[in-house]
Amino acid sequence: MECPYLEKGRVAMCGASITMMVPSIEEEKTWCSTEDHYRCPMLLSHVLRSGARKERVKRTA
Ligand code: SF4
Repeated sequence: MECPYLEKGRVAMCGASITMMVPSIEEEKTWCSTEDHYRCPMLLSHVLRSGARKERVKRTA
């Protein structure tokens, strides 16, 4: 199963990156199109940012 953040088009892009990064061919082979996508540093960073955002919202509520 490929990464749910992989946005395929004319050029594949990473929906988990802030800058809509284009994964390299090597990154696509290693992470994006494999079950190992859960180990991708970009995905882990996205999950950490999301968790931090939720925590900030909780503190201000
Ligand atoms: S595997 Fe990583 S680089 Fe590839 S689309 Fe997912 S988060 Fe982005």
